[in-house]
Amino acid sequence: MLDKVVIANRGEIALRILRACREMGIKTVAVHSTADTNLKHVLLADETVCIGPPPSINSYLNMPAIISAAEVTDAVAIHPGYGFLSENADFAERVESSGFIFVGPHADAIRLMGDKVSAIKTMKAAGVPTVPGSDGPLGDNAEDNLRIARDIGYPIIIKAAGGGGGRGMRVVHSEASLIGAISLTQAEAGAAFGNPVVYMEKFLERPRHVEIQVLADMHGNVVHLGERDCSMQRRHQKVIEEAPAPGITAEQRSRIGARCVRACQEMGYRNAGTFEFLYQDQEFYFIEMNTRLQVEHPVTEMITGVDIVREQFRIANGEALSITQDEVRISGHAIECRINAEDPKTFMPSPGMVNLWHAPGGPGIRVESHVYSGYRVPPYYDSMIGKIIAHGNDRATAVARMRTALSEIVVEGIRTNVPLHQEILQHSAFQGGGTDIHYLEKRLGL
Ligand code: ADP
Repeated sequence: MLDKVVIANRGEIALRILRACREMGIKTVAVHSTADTNLKHVLLADETVCIGPPPSINSYLNMPAIISAAEVTDAVAIHPGYGFLSENADFAERVESSGFIFVGPHADAIRLMGDKVSAIKTMKAAGVPTVPGSDGPLGDNAEDNLRIARDIGYPIIIKAAGGGGGRGMRVVHSEASLIGAISLTQAEAGAAFGNPVVYMEKFLERPRHVEIQVLADMHGNVVHLGERDCSMQRRHQKVIEEAPAPGITAEQRSRIGARCVRACQEMGYRNAGTFEFLYQDQEFYFIEMNTRLQVEHPVTEMITGVDIVREQFRIANGEALSITQDEVRISGHAIECRINAEDPKTFMPSPGMVNLWHAPGGPGIRVESHVYSGYRVPPYYDSMIGKIIAHGNDRATAVARMRTALSEIVVEGIRTNVPLHQEILQHSAFQGGGTDIHYLEKRLGL
């Protein structure tokens, strides 16, 4: 197995990765900013290296500092977690050219999927269903663009090839505003992502967000671990995720899963990845692929029993996947609530000292958090401070367990979105399952 790994991340995911390392007998190096000396995984790691001041740009995004941390500690691999440098193809390349293993896909795959136009083209060629849209980037011939939109049918959405994080998109409802909207999106995309290329898609009005988890090793073995429903979102940020997705049949799952597996095989993909789809009227429409571990991976782990981080390390070490597709069994239902340090009504971040932290427990409850009593949440990073995952034999049991867990958790000193989760769990629409991606914002009156 890998001897020593640098964990190039912070917070709950760094702790999650550290725990996997410990289980597998891998030594750990925690790299951290000067604001993060008291992070739980930093306190637990075998070695620590301070990589810079608090702003991420000088620390968690500082490629030379992270690579030299691997050099000075004699580590053999770097796990990027999610966010930060996890989907940065240049980083993956620099890690490998410096002689370390990048625990993730090859840089070429990250680059291919990082450009949405090339991602969609790859998926189409592999038989993965995509949203009806322009075949590639839009040119500057107005007549052509008007015709493409007419063929697709309004409303349409203009999207930046290099976009991410829910930015670089514009919905157009009628022909009159199409041409202006295209130039505006191109200009914004050029400024924000350094890439003015835009394309057009049918705008789906009430889709759900359903995504497929895949794992691929270096020997051509690829499996899918079924789907997650992440439709409960605010400002394109997922708030609650669950697996399996309510109402998706085993037949639908294996059909779309098989397409994702084939796409991985055709592009020679390796490590963990997620195919994100919009799902409406029983149809899947690919929107993008995330070439990394995801925040919501635990719901899949709970229903399949597969440890995704462990598989990532096995794959990175050149080993074969520990399971075949036939061995993947879905058991029960799991729900995850993301706990954020923020005001539950205004969503303003609420960093500061956590005077008291008490985590819930009981059957089927898993808590992924780096917080402890006396820990100070720094103001510099994402406000997510942990996740509660509830598993049960069926969805109703998972929901009931989550409700109990939310009633038990104690976080004193800062505000959290726990009351928001409690409220959502009371909604009859949530209890019914299968709400669309606009549900939460509508319900919040946004
Ligand atoms: P990003 O990389 O910025 O997250 P995505 O392509 O994943 O961009 O889209 C983000 C969100 O935008 C989706 O989850 C969905 O809410 C909305 N969206 C994107 N494409 C469409 C579409 N064709 N129809 C309706 N909504 C869309």
